Amino acid sequence: MSTPLRIVIIGGGVIGSAIATFLTQTPGACEVTVLERDPTYGNASSARSASSIRQQFSTPVNIRMSQYGIDFFRHIGTQLRVGETAPDIGLVEPGYLFLASTAGAASLQENVRMQHAHGVAVDLLSSTQLRTAFPWLATRGLRCGALGRAGEGWYDGYSVLQAFRAKARAQGVAFVHAEANGFVRRGPRVAGVTVREGATLHCDMAVNAAGPWAAVVARWAGIELPVHARRRTVFSFTCPERLPRCPLVIEPGGLWFRPEGEQFLCGYAPAPADDLDDLPLDPDIGAFETLIWPALAQRVPAFVAVRMTGAWAGYYEMNVFDHNAILGLHADCPNLYFANGFSGHGLQHAPAVGRGLAELMLLGGYRSLDLSPLAFSRISERRPLMERNII
Ligand SMILES: Cc1cc2nc3c(=O)[nH]c(=O)nc-3n(C[C@H](O)[C@H](O)[C@H](O)COP(=O)(O)OP(=O)(O)OC[C@H]3O[C@@H](n4cnc5c(N)ncnc54)[C@H](O)[C@@H]3O)c2cc1C
Repeated sequence: MSTPLRIVIIGGGVIGSAIATFLTQTPGACEVTVLERDPTYGNASSARSASSIRQQFSTPVNIRMSQYGIDFFRHIGTQLRVGETAPDIGLVEPGYLFLASTAGAASLQENVRMQHAHGVAVDLLSSTQLRTAFPWLATRGLRCGALGRAGEGWYDGYSVLQAFRAKARAQGVAFVHAEANGFVRRGPRVAGVTVREGATLHCDMAVNAAGPWAAVVARWAGIELPVHARRRTVFSFTCPERLPRCPLVIEPGGLWFRPEGEQFLCGYAPAPADDLDDLPLDPDIGAFETLIWPALAQRVPAFVAVRMTGAWAGYYEMNVFDHNAILGLHADCPNLYFANGFSGHGLQHAPAVGRGLAELMLLGGYRSLDLSPLAFSRISERRPLMERNII
């Protein structure tokens, strides 16, 4: 019998936990340790997410990952069941509605054509059709909108993280409360991961799943990873009026809102000049009054009467090269795997990434879904795979 591979994963958020789960689906293939410096996930993106899923991407590989993601989430009670405990993530599927002005209409139409070719159930609605479908929406300045008919909605992201973690543990994964702080190298390989608490974990393979902090980990191997921690604030608010059949709505400028129980959530992308790295995770409360509320009220007249009830901030692990995930090996290190740079869509893609990375690591290549368009090589070769539908 061959000795199992020793694998150390740095970061136990949804990505690290999903990879650990898929790696240990076949008993005996590997021994997996996940290093997590904060088991409360206080600042982890997975715990501060808006936890939504959509099929409307502009890149085919993202669509395919979301198609697998929604199927996985719909059946998560079976997929990640542990004994008698079947996780429930409260998935609902009211759709996403991308709105476009005249300036953005051609690009939206092109996206929809490509999405249809990849089996996405999405309708292009004129502004008149938008008014009929959503009488509470003011369509001034809008040319059209793209509405997803299936596979788009939201869920409890923290429950997804905990379900992966519980499943991985049940399959023998060790979650260790420790902070990785370097690599032991043998030639170009990573032979071990050192931790601040004083030990070295020897390994045959290591995984960088450190979320917004992934560039620090990459630097231990002398690799530049274009992933930056960019703060995003999410606000909750109440509205005295109901908005029947309200999907997740995205304004042409990137502001978004959606229902959350009896309330609503909303968020926005700051102007590039204000989008600095590593800002403290204090919510940008002032933006609600100055930027968000006026824009909300213009799009939905009932939002004139909203009341902000809370806010939180988290880091997007932003791949500034092309806003897409970076998966797999870098040419300079044959056994350090990357799963980083999800740029705001990592929760919904965690099932596909977990399965894909496990195949790559254990079988030497992708088997179920080809994730090679997201390989690290595109960065050194300066071939961006630009995702246009970034929220
Ligand atoms: C406001 C907001 C809204 C979002 N909305 C959505 C959405 O609607 N849909 C969607 O799909 N995605 C969304 N995302 C993105 C999604 O949450 C992330 O892509 C995903 O959670 C990334 O998971 P991760 O495991 O890579 O990172 P994290 O969850 O950040 O996990 C990384 C972990 O690594 C640990 N770590 C880092 N360095 C070390 C070290 N040296 N040693 C040990 N541990 C270490 C950290 O403590 C952390 O727990 C959103 C994110 C934010 C912030």
